[in-house]
Amino acid sequence: MVKVKSAVLRKSAAPAPYAESRPIQIETLELDPPEYGEVLVEIKAASLCHSDLSVIDGSRPRPLPMVLGHEAAGIVKEVGEGVTDLKPGDHVICVFVPSCGHCVPCREGRPALCEPGAASNAAGTLIGGGVRFHAEDEEVNHHVGVSAFSEHVVLSRNSLVKVDKDIPFEKLALFGCAVITGVGAVINTANIKLGSTVAIVGLGGIGLSALLGAVASGASRIVAVDINENKLEKAKELGATDVFNSRDPDVVEQVRNATGGGLDYVFETAGAVPALEVAYGITKRGGTTVTTGLPHPEHQFSFPYVTLTAEEKTFKGSYVGSCVPSRDIPRFISLFEQGRLPVDKLLAKTISLEEINEGFDLLATGDYSRIIIKF
Ligand SMILES: [Zn+2]
Ligand SMILES: [Zn+2]
Repeated sequence: MVKVKSAVLRKSAAPAPYAESRPIQIETLELDPPEYGEVLVEIKAASLCHSDLSVIDGSRPRPLPMVLGHEAAGIVKEVGEGVTDLKPGDHVICVFVPSCGHCVPCREGRPALCEPGAASNAAGTLIGGGVRFHAEDEEVNHHVGVSAFSEHVVLSRNSLVKVDKDIPFEKLALFGCAVITGVGAVINTANIKLGSTVAIVGLGGIGLSALLGAVASGASRIVAVDINENKLEKAKELGATDVFNSRDPDVVEQVRNATGGGLDYVFETAGAVPALEVAYGITKRGGTTVTTGLPHPEHQFSFPYVTLTAEEKTFKGSYVGSCVPSRDIPRFISLFEQGRLPVDKLLAKTISLEEINEGFDLLATGDYSRIIIKF
């Protein structure tokens, strides 16, 4: 057992600003050694993602106390029994759905939908069962099998992808959530064709990654939609051809008018019902709406039923970008190395673990795409 410095969330829905309410405390936890099929990793960089914020603000309920964080990269320190393809010193990216390799979705080549992986993530345990973090006699839960806001973590071998050692950790971390989710939605879930027209609704880390994926895939027109003017500027910089502010009540009409009736593929990444309404509204006749959003489990979405039939629209969900992480992370990294997927442009700010509450206040402003904790 080792002692580790970790950021622990004990209570959700604290009032903002978090710099004052301080819902996350830096604590010294006890970390068990890796069990069968598990790995001890020293985390070197971890990003603040909106789905961590959703646990903090209570819109995504999770069992507490919990060590949050899921977009991260680090170094293997020790491997448990049964781990034969990783060794101490290897550089790894964390993946936020561990896959068992045996359930029906895993057998169908869709590890993002792994059933035991989803169950252990919901329970706050590792896929091997139980937790490895303790605060004296109390168990501290894992966030989606990763819990990256900690100097060291124990996770399943199947929550890790080995990568080359020549890329800085803060850039590698982005591939674990923003890039596989955003680029994967475009390349895997929608599988867009060269020359397609695309819109992105919601320009956080995932939306901007989807935008870069659309550029890399040769989209002929890329419309960016958000409520934040700074994000719209950023989208233009990254290759958006048109930008629209969704605070405008007639934004759907504006986009439809500007694009001759909407776009082939529209990606909604905000996880908010009004954003999905805009996305569906600006999907053209015969087009496809893809969502990566993770809203509160009770939120319902309704739409005019007849449009699905008479306009032959398609609705698709996209989780972890429909990725096979061990296949897709290396190919996305090679596109990055060739300059065709400049995801490092999402890096907005670097902070220390102690500044995590202030960091989530900054993320909530919507002005920062990716804020990274460097260890
Ligand atoms: Zn994320
Ligand atoms: Zn599985």
